[in-house]
Amino acid sequence: MDPDPHSPPARATGRGPGWYRGDLHVHSRASSGGELTPPQLAAEARRLGLDFLATTEHAGAQTHDQWHPLAADDLLVVLGQEVTTHTGHWLALGLPPGRTVAWDYGIRDTAEPSLDGQLATVRGWGGTSVVAHPYAPYPSGTFMYPYEGFDAVEVWNGAWDSDVPWQADNETALAEWGRELAAGVHRGRWRPAVGNSDAHLAGQLGLPHTVVWAAELSTAAILSGIRAGRSWIAESGEVEVSFTVTGHDGRSAGVGERLAAPRDAPVVARVEVRGVPGGVVSFHTERGTVHREPLPEGGAGAVEWGTSAEEAGFVRVEVRHPDGRMAALTNPVLVGG
Ligand SMILES: [Zn+2]
Repeated sequence: MDPDPHSPPARATGRGPGWYRGDLHVHSRASSGGELTPPQLAAEARRLGLDFLATTEHAGAQTHDQWHPLAADDLLVVLGQEVTTHTGHWLALGLPPGRTVAWDYGIRDTAEPSLDGQLATVRGWGGTSVVAHPYAPYPSGTFMYPYEGFDAVEVWNGAWDSDVPWQADNETALAEWGRELAAGVHRGRWRPAVGNSDAHLAGQLGLPHTVVWAAELSTAAILSGIRAGRSWIAESGEVEVSFTVTGHDGRSAGVGERLAAPRDAPVVARVEVRGVPGGVVSFHTERGTVHREPLPEGGAGAVEWGTSAEEAGFVRVEVRHPDGRMAALTNPVLVGG
């Protein structure tokens, strides 16, 4: 890695292979509506126990060169941009320092600059492209492009100007993602879900965030985990989820992985949850919601559901508060094949 005095290191010390928490959609006051400086955001990330964040200013790389002194062994800063086109926003993540993606186009534009051209540019840089808040309830924020060409979808976007981190537009984005997942898994190409705060104001960072399995705490490894769907979304740092599916031979697979299993052999989906008092766990497959069970009173416990590859080509989990708001949701474990 070239030591560049103007950009944050692409690798932090981290804790080796494991789960890392981070927020991939973060605005400083360089973005309209943002009120925090990069030093304030970095301090807040550390206070919340986040391992990484992506800087995603609106339509630019204005703060790429301000993060170098703020990233360190314990905090990875991923360089990015929120690309605010005329007909939807998307996150370009893993950009080279100071590089910018064009934003001045919409669904009707096929000549450059266009969405397809810009997605190809990001791919060429080894970056990752994420659909942002697809059902945002304002003109140009609502995402009108097909998802084709994107690596992941932000099904959970933060509080905006309310104090509730789970909105009706997230419910719609989740429903659409869950519906596409069924066909995607069976065609061998599915698009993972992510959740980010889209923080503009104090108190919003990390609500929600994505927890990613990565071989190390580096931009390349985190984005690879995002693209593979080896991740789940947490409402806050208080929520802990561990989800596996285990076969009759004792082998297990976690989120984003596939458990090879004969079609008729029994498998057990098991989720362990902490930090959701009064919470309700539900399991979802290509047949819809297949099992629902409350957690013990204190909000910590395990829920199991038995199935088979015949019955479930994948299993994913949602954990909700008693009032229906989301506390956590996972990408699927694939079963069979
Ligand atoms: Zn946006």
